[in-house]
Amino acid sequence: MLVCRDVTEMTTDYLDHALPLGQRVAIRWHLAICSFCRRHLRQVRATIRLLGSMPRPDVAPEREAVLLSELHRVLPESQPDSG
Ligand SMILES: [Zn+2]
Repeated sequence: MLVCRDVTEMTTDYLDHALPLGQRVAIRWHLAICSFCRRHLRQVRATIRLLGSMPRPDVAPEREAVLLSELHRVLPESQPDSG
């Protein structure tokens, strides 16, 4: 039985269809009884749609690499292999 925290942690994977069937079904059951998670799902979906409709910033690829490495330097927790 999933709790709200489980569902909120899996929301983006759920929306990306990246979860196995069993977990998708468990989330659907939870959504059927939980208005909080239904609202959360709607908000995440709306945010993804909004971000997808925004134009990409016009940044040259080499400049983007510099910006990303600078971002990783100032935000070490953003590196995938940390933590
Ligand atoms: Zn919930």
